[in-house]
Amino acid sequence: MAFAGSLTLSVSANPVVTKEIREENGKKVEYMFIDGIKVHETDPAKQPQPKVVTPKAYDAEAAKAPANAKILFDGTEATFKNWTDRKGGQTKWKLVDGAMESVRRAGYIQSKEKFGSCRLHIEFATPKDVKGEGQGRGNSGVFLMGQYEVQVLDSYNNVTYPDGQCGALYGRAVPLVNASRKPGEWQTYDITFHRPKFNEKGEVTRRAKFHVVHNGIVIHDNVELTGATGWRGPHSAAEYKKHDDKGFLKMQDHGNPVKFRNIWIQEIED
Ligand code: MG
Repeated sequence: MAFAGSLTLSVSANPVVTKEIREENGKKVEYMFIDGIKVHETDPAKQPQPKVVTPKAYDAEAAKAPANAKILFDGTEATFKNWTDRKGGQTKWKLVDGAMESVRRAGYIQSKEKFGSCRLHIEFATPKDVKGEGQGRGNSGVFLMGQYEVQVLDSYNNVTYPDGQCGALYGRAVPLVNASRKPGEWQTYDITFHRPKFNEKGEVTRRAKFHVVHNGIVIHDNVELTGATGWRGPHSAAEYKKHDDKGFLKMQDHGNPVKFRNIWIQEIED
């Protein structure tokens, strides 16, 4: 393995992102490091697995939409119509027992309406019938503005790279703890998201910020995203790319039948 080049980004702020291009089997592979830790690091000596904690009991009162929230999905046919496929057509996801269920090869499901900075409540359940391992078990994702992913994964007794486990801001930030419930059980995310801002040149003038509560436990405490969360190789994540002030909320079809229910959103001040 030889270093073919090295370049440093975002040195002016914390955390620090660095990149290297390495030659591997005649190919150039990009390695990204966030505060010195490789994206998708699996070595627990370098990136420990988040501590497993007992989630709080489901709080039906806290899960209720406040009066000023928009109901995006409440289990009914009427609110299932708030969702489309990626082209704005009818989704192939299924409405099953009051939940929207991901269907293999149906692609992402997305909200009809676009949102920017927001507070989002969303509930999900990974399949009770456990299949696969690592990233192949109960994988989906909640994508703010269609591109900033809070990972959904069955992380109950299922080890994967910590920046890709349930609750991770995929490839960018590891959850503080693992507050996952058992497969098949309903779990909650309460996400406060501030969108990134860009100048006319397309440079980020304010990073996106996430505060995420998983099953009643804080797993990201006002974390600034160092870039986007898209997959860009085995050890690299996508960079910020200028976009509109609002975007569709999307959930991922990653080939596993993950369910979602009780989705509501409040638009908040930028
Ligand atoms: Mg995912």
